[in-house]
Amino acid sequence: MRRPEEKAEAKPTSPLVLEIKGNSLDDGPGIRSVVFIKGCPLDCVWCHNPESKKRGSELSFDAELCVACDACIEACEEKALSRRVKGFIRRDRCTLCFRCVEVCPSGALSRVGREMSVAEIMVKVKRDIPFYKNSGGGVTLSGGEPTISIEFLSELTRALKKAKIHTLLETCGLFEMGRFRSMVYPNLNSIYYDIKFADEKLHRKYCGASNKIILENFSTLHELYLKGGVPVLPRTPLVPGITDSEKNISDIADFLRDRKVKKAVLLAYNPLWHEKNDKIGVDNPYSREKKMRSFMTRERIDALKEIYRSAGIETV
Ligand code: SF4
Ligand code: SF4
Repeated sequence: MRRPEEKAEAKPTSPLVLEIKGNSLDDGPGIRSVVFIKGCPLDCVWCHNPESKKRGSELSFDAELCVACDACIEACEEKALSRRVKGFIRRDRCTLCFRCVEVCPSGALSRVGREMSVAEIMVKVKRDIPFYKNSGGGVTLSGGEPTISIEFLSELTRALKKAKIHTLLETCGLFEMGRFRSMVYPNLNSIYYDIKFADEKLHRKYCGASNKIILENFSTLHELYLKGGVPVLPRTPLVPGITDSEKNISDIADFLRDRKVKKAVLLAYNPLWHEKNDKIGVDNPYSREKKMRSFMTRERIDALKEIYRSAGIETV
């Protein structure tokens, strides 16, 4: 699912921020602000945030918002915009100057990913401290993959700790444990940890990389938790025909049971991600499959949860 124009992508040293979403009730305890970091070492075919995969900024086009004023076409010196082109943008010509975004009156064209310093992020998330305090909430670091820059994450989590803000990290687990443990781990209050497959070949096929380090890192973090460290909650997204096989769920349950894990999450599949690919010009063949376009039934989810229950793992 990578695109040809990625060759020209500028690689920022600090990660870009995709969005800071306030008042979230779905990303950890209480009311939270979620900082979405852009860039991910995995390439999961069902990714709900496809605009978070690349590290560099991107141009997004939402056809439903376009009022056909053609101001952007006139502003583009590269002639990269045309109604005769599928998706409106000739991405092989676009230099990501974002002049078109500046003149677009409707927000149909937008820039995805912005540079933000730790200080700027802190100004934004500190505004909601009263909400965090009253609800037992805090800040969730998500993505993309927040560990894409350990240095930046270290600085950000140190600042959050200093401000006494509960900090939860959502991670795919593919990071260098030594640096993570010394630079980030001491600043965290909670970790949500994705385990998508037990089988390495399937992980390579659907996520674009081996899961060896991911499983090793999970084992290390869970051992630390058992010795009084940061709580780690394993989560598995249930993706139809991909991760939701009884074999995969039962293999993950065995892996968790062997490590004395008592609680885990099976995340219900949400099919509302296809349009996001179109907006950033990604042609994902999986998004055309019928099974990927519908919600999973309650019965199916309950049957998979039963596999965990049989292994002595509570699903929360
Ligand atoms: S970002 Fe710049 S080059 Fe790309 S379409 Fe917009 S104006 Fe043209
Ligand atoms: S400037 Fe915005 S609203 Fe006007 S044609 Fe371009 S995308 Fe559409």
